[in-house]
Amino acid sequence: MREIHMVDLAGQYRKLKAEIDEAVSSVMESAAYVKGPEIKKFEEELAAYTGAKHVISCGNGTDALQIAYMSLGLKPGDEIITSAFTFVATVETMVLLGLRPVFADVDENTFNISPEEIRKKISPDTKAIVPVHLFGQCADMEAILEIAGQYNLEVIEDAAQAVGADFIFRNGKKCKAGTMGIIGTTSFFPSKNLACCGDGGALFTSDNEIAGKIRSIANHGMKERYHYDYIGVNSRLDTLQAAILSVKLRHLDRFNEARRRVADAYDMALSGCDEIILPSRADYSTHIFHQYTIRVPAGRRDRLRDFLRENHIPTMVYYPLPIHHQKAYASHPFSKVSLPVTEKLCSEVLSLPVCPETDDEQIEYITGKVLDFFKQ
Ligand SMILES: *Cc1c(COP(=O)(O)O)cnc(C)c1O
Repeated sequence: MREIHMVDLAGQYRKLKAEIDEAVSSVMESAAYVKGPEIKKFEEELAAYTGAKHVISCGNGTDALQIAYMSLGLKPGDEIITSAFTFVATVETMVLLGLRPVFADVDENTFNISPEEIRKKISPDTKAIVPVHLFGQCADMEAILEIAGQYNLEVIEDAAQAVGADFIFRNGKKCKAGTMGIIGTTSFFPSKNLACCGDGGALFTSDNEIAGKIRSIANHGMKERYHYDYIGVNSRLDTLQAAILSVKLRHLDRFNEARRRVADAYDMALSGCDEIILPSRADYSTHIFHQYTIRVPAGRRDRLRDFLRENHIPTMVYYPLPIHHQKAYASHPFSKVSLPVTEKLCSEVLSLPVCPETDDEQIEYITGKVLDFFKQ
């Protein structure tokens, strides 16, 4: 059996080696390492794929979030409702800008922010909602957009883990993750479903004015050369990474489908195991299984993890500690909030290996060991 990885980056490179090597050498020959033509080409391809009117690439997914908050003119003290069950970038960028994160608890089945909990957290200072489409499945955007409309709030989607997932509205209309709010953001970090070979990120918007502002802010706030209309940052996608991403984008649907097949096989093999809770699939979203995350109640998660590790099966805990319990944020008012579902999930979740390269033999071995653990 091949060695099991959470993500098999080398395996993925070998599959696409001819295409990636050609893309890389063509950029090397052109020497347009910054702002080369491959940037615009990739942005247009990703816009066509997602249906967003504008895609603006940037240095990474964290910058994308920061630029999104900056471009909406949010001011220090403004409150943004988001989830504490996320990667820290969603929140650290708010805090750096003096914005006030207000955490709403998540739904225990989907791991995504709960619309009912959002309603409870709205105050006169609330200016925006930032749903995170965690593990590859969209948050309940229809309900979130309804709340936002009712209270005149901006919605910024953190779609770093869900590029390619479809949200399905009640009327049957489908939209790609990241294209429903005023702005969507994503990351091309190597472990994401659509990933480059280094750091990269992008913002989506269909608002012309905001698109212009985002483009300017990502380039020091410049309007014409050496004239600055906004306070900005320097955040660019490398031309080399854009060329690689154009290759990867062509395979994204196929790779997401391969992940879904792995998830189906896990579901099938583990559905009879009463000691664990399998990831649920919402009827309003497709799932691209950035992670396949089970829940292991009764305090047995860490022992299962150790057992799997002894059997050469890597797993990860996304996330072991919610943001409001992190040391870095201990002095923030939000550190005192109680989020029972988020806190329980942090003690129960375990992500099993899932990537397009995970094969049947590995799946059988992994699920066999999970079942063995509970038979002991
Ligand atoms: C990966 C990730 C980010 C940050 O992306 P980087 O490119 O690593 O800066 C932000 N939010 C979520 C939910 C992520 O998973």
